[in-house]
Amino acid sequence: MSYETVIGLEVHTQLNTKSKIFCGCSTEFGASANTQVCPVCLGLPGVLPVLNHKTLKHAVKTALALNCSIESFIKFDRKNYFYPDLPKNFQISQYDRPLSYKGHLTIKDKDKTKKIGITRVHLEEDAGKLIHEGDDAASSYVDFNRTGIPLLEIVSEPDMRSPGQAYLYLTTLKAILKYLDVSDCDMEKGSLRCDANISIRKKGDTKLGTKTELKNMNSFKGVKAALEFEVKRQIKLKEKGEKIMQQTLLWDEKKQKTVSMRTKEEAHDYRYFPEPDLVPFVLKQEEIDTIKNNLPELPEARLSRFMSEFKLSVYDGNILISDKYLADFFEECAKTYKQYKNLSNWIQGALSSELNNRKIQVKDLKLAPLELTKLLKIADEGKINNLTAKTVLTDMIHTGKSADTIIKEKNLAQISDSSALEEITDNVIKDNPKPVGDYKNGKENAIMFLMGQVMKQSKGKANPKMVIEILKERIKNA
Ligand SMILES: [Zn+2]
Repeated sequence: MSYETVIGLEVHTQLNTKSKIFCGCSTEFGASANTQVCPVCLGLPGVLPVLNHKTLKHAVKTALALNCSIESFIKFDRKNYFYPDLPKNFQISQYDRPLSYKGHLTIKDKDKTKKIGITRVHLEEDAGKLIHEGDDAASSYVDFNRTGIPLLEIVSEPDMRSPGQAYLYLTTLKAILKYLDVSDCDMEKGSLRCDANISIRKKGDTKLGTKTELKNMNSFKGVKAALEFEVKRQIKLKEKGEKIMQQTLLWDEKKQKTVSMRTKEEAHDYRYFPEPDLVPFVLKQEEIDTIKNNLPELPEARLSRFMSEFKLSVYDGNILISDKYLADFFEECAKTYKQYKNLSNWIQGALSSELNNRKIQVKDLKLAPLELTKLLKIADEGKINNLTAKTVLTDMIHTGKSADTIIKEKNLAQISDSSALEEITDNVIKDNPKPVGDYKNGKENAIMFLMGQVMKQSKGKANPKMVIEILKERIKNA
């Protein structure tokens, strides 16, 4: 029997404001535990929360970028539950009137595009962080620094039909959030978290199957792996005629399997009610319009522009735009270097591998775009070959020196002086009679071996084009 997978995602992203959502405490990551707290975020009696305006702006910006309708009547609600990481015993969130609703995001699945509905985007506060480490297995620790960090909850419609589409949704959403500069989206720091709802049904059915909820996935790859596991598990149960239970599952990264956390019977009743300490207010249309008019160019639009302006393929364009900083770097370089395809190759190839080796982003790299384009021009003019150019790039990043300086200091300039090249070539021909004979007998490839020898003797500095010409010429006349 063939089945259809139905997936919906719930993403929580921490907004990158300097202070928390309802108090002035710092949101800086990595401080000592419980040093960024105050009576408000600790939920001490008698305190009053005040909304951080910046979080609201960030939220509206995101909602507009996700094509949502904005609810101008801003109201907060209390979600009541007791948990050790929540000192107030309730979380301030939004319930019946979320900040925004009914939007969509477009994903590109191979050459097809698909719109994924956004149910709602709302603001809330983060809870503290429980730490279950240490020698004493009987106790846990809690860090309230995270309590009150502004969170945006982005809920999708169950519109995804495969784990692969869920992965694309997440990468697209992350790119948008980065372009908007509202969150650092760092999953390792917990700035971006994702839960998934998943069910299966017979192909053609319109009724949704019983869903399970997946939690505890620490990377987009983890989300995909957990969903793939869950599809298989549910199909197996169905095939055996067993019932799929509605439950919350945790993804065990080490064992690569899901484990049950709680069943529906244990589900919470949050007893939502309007937050009495925050007076509802109306968000002025002018403010919404101002945010709308100042939205930056988003990934989808940038891709189209890269394809038309720089004549790049969808493939190249997608790689560049998926990282805002890489795309910015490309555009800066493109101002002084017009061989766009070559530039794109260099950024995706040599430059990206330098970034990966150093585990940094291009914005943290001490390399000015102009310096890279100078290097590419030197290589294009034939002063150094491509291989040398790559080692020069590594040196530039390492030392901060210019390409010119490095080439001069290390005497890397390509040997394009024909008499010097002829001398090396003649020696190579003399020392390698067999490959020379092979070439003469029609084995074209033999010349590449000879060329390799010349490059070796010239310490990689020979002009490859000239070497080939000289080799052919000398062998013919030998
Ligand atoms: Zn505080």
